[in-house]
Amino acid sequence: MIIVNDIEELLKESKKLKGSVGFVPTMGALHKGHLTLIQKARVDNDIVIVSIFVNPTQFLEGEDLDAYPRKEEADSKICKLAGVDILFMPSVEMMYNSDELSITAPAIRGFILEGTKRAGHFDGMLQIVMKLLNLISYNKPSSFRAYFGKKDAQQLVLIQQMVRDYFLNVEIVPCDIVRDRDGLALSSRNVYLSKDERGRALSLSRSLKSATDMILKKEFNVEKIKKEMLLSLKDVDVEYVELVNRQFQPIQRVELGNTIILVAVSVGKTRLIDNLWI
Ligand code: AMP
Repeated sequence: MIIVNDIEELLKESKKLKGSVGFVPTMGALHKGHLTLIQKARVDNDIVIVSIFVNPTQFLEGEDLDAYPRKEEADSKICKLAGVDILFMPSVEMMYNSDELSITAPAIRGFILEGTKRAGHFDGMLQIVMKLLNLISYNKPSSFRAYFGKKDAQQLVLIQQMVRDYFLNVEIVPCDIVRDRDGLALSSRNVYLSKDERGRALSLSRSLKSATDMILKKEFNVEKIKKEMLLSLKDVDVEYVELVNRQFQPIQRVELGNTIILVAVSVGKTRLIDNLWI
């Protein structure tokens, strides 16, 4: 595995490699969720490239940019063991100029749920994903796939839209959510949780399970499902509980195969999101 911190070096090294490219963009502090994306990319492609970049433009004022866990050494070991070919870890100065063009998230899909709770987050996220997709595919690989987790459902849907809207030549591969045994969705931010908070955080997955139980009993009324979910969200500050279709439009009734159930809460100072694709 080659570790690259420089854009010119990335382009030089990636030019030497021939075949299909699988790309996994991350912010590091890698866990099994990231690893599953990397393993899938490894199976599907000749070359695997992972990026680690804590992107400042997707953090809002007062969010955890400075505190965000950084574990470069452990992350490089994980990538090496997983068979990654190039690990790209650029600096902020390398990725951004002072007076740049910017990308704005779409006015409807980009400004609900996470879009209202974290206004501006998706603009920064789309901007960095666009830059990374362009850089990694710069040498025109025979095919180009990029792997994203369903954990960040709205992010995934917006990236798929960006690919369509900007005619990008990349296949976006959605990957299932990886959870701990007790149901908590893996996240780099879980390290912030105290033991007590971690216990309380389990109500996220519990609320999604209560929704599934209702749907299995053929209760498709969204308001009733949301009410039941709120009952299981105990000792956490609920930001939203919502059901949308795969285009991220609000729905009144669950449509099997076309519904995403989303929940966002704060546990102490830590913000957590989870979801289920039905
Ligand atoms: P991040 O490092 O948080 O920006 O995440 C990088 C990628 O890993 C994103 O596509 C996430 O959706 C994905 N990811 C994060 N956590 C999980 C998880 N528990 N299961 C599956 N994918 C995940």
